[in-house]
Parts: sequence; C-alpha cells; structure tokens
Amino acid sequence: MSLVRQAPAKHHHVPGYTDPIDVWSCCGCRTHRPHGEIITVNVKILITMMPACLLPFQKRGKVYLFIESVSQLYRSLLTIQPWLFYLMQSYEGSEKMVAMFLLSVYVVAKLVELLMRIRLFKNATWTILQSVNFGTKPTSEQILAAGDACSICHDDFKTPVRLSCSHIFCEPCISEWFDREHTCPLCRASVEDGHAWRNGSTTFDFQLY
Ligand SMILES: [Zn+2]
Ligand SMILES: [Zn+2]
Repeated sequence: MSLVRQAPAKHHHVPGYTDPIDVWSCCGCRTHRPHGEIITVNVKILITMMPACLLPFQKRGKVYLFIESVSQLYRSLLTIQPWLFYLMQSYEGSEKMVAMFLLSVYVVAKLVELLMRIRLFKNATWTILQSVNFGTKPTSEQILAAGDACSICHDDFKTPVRLSCSHIFCEPCISEWFDREHTCPLCRASVEDGHAWRNGSTTFDFQLY
C-alpha cells in the first residue's frame, strides 16, 4: 500500500491517542473492526431467538435491515478518527503538503461513503416505521383490475399491497417472498435497494478507510 510510511521520531500528540498509530490500526485490523461486526451478529442472533409473539416473523426482515444499516454507519464513522490522526502524524515539514492532499482525498471519499450509509439508514428507518412493509395500499379499482386473487397464495387478497411495478399481492405473501428475493415474483422488476440485508446477513466487507 502506497500510504504506508515510517512514522517520524517526534510525534505531535492528539488527545485520545498516547502512542503513535500505524496504517494497520487505521484499517481496523487490530481494533474496532471485528468488534462492531461481532456485536451486530450477536444482536441478530438474539432477534432470531425471540418468540413470535414478541416479534412477528414478517417484521424481522425490517429489523435486520435496520440493525445492519446502523452497524454499517457506525463502523464507517469509527475509522475517521484514526485515519485523520494517522495522516496528520505521518508527515512533517514540507511533506505537510502531501498530508493535506491525502487528507482532502480521504475526506471526499469518506463523504461519498457516508452519504451511501446514511441513505441506507434513512431507508431502513422509514421502512421500520411503516405499518405496510412494502409498496403502497392499492385502490379498489386497482385490485379489481388485478383480478381478485393473489398470485402467490391463489386466494383472496389479505391486506393487499401494490408494488412499484403495479403488481398486487397479499402483504404476508410478499413479505415472506422479499425476505429471500429482491424482485417482483411476477415481472422480476427489481424492488428498491436495501432489501439485501433483510435476510439477516451482515456485511464483512473490509472497512478500509
Ligand atoms: Zn397471497
Ligand atoms: Zn411486478
């Protein structure tokens, strides 16, 4: 990695750090990274063990999605302080220019990443607050036009929801489907992002910066 440099002999101490840190600490190999993921997985296991009367199975996808988005945002924020500290301590004198350049590159990259995490977090918060899990409530004309049976359970609609592709399903049927798939079961149109985390999976992507 091109960023790896020998730390200079003299260090300006920044509050919060008594010893100089190296690039590997910044990447989180030694410190916070495994920590955050293990907590996330443990919380999800707790939710999986919850009895159905406390948390209905259809609602769990939303909760997993919410926890995952909080965890990703948290881990993304955690790496900021060590990286800034590392970049500031590693360059001295005329090399400060290099540090300033790297810092600005870092800040821009971090902002883009944070915006992504915040969008996922906003989606998850919005989803968990809604009474309907997916799509919108269809009007009676729309239900009539769709025929009177759900194409998943081939029965009358129970609390019908209309997806963005205008297909209508029972809410329980489509919730169950979306915990595994991310497309409409009829036309395969993809449904909004964020649903990848509904099945309780955790990202183990390397939080490099
Ligand atoms: Zn159905
Ligand atoms: Zn569809």
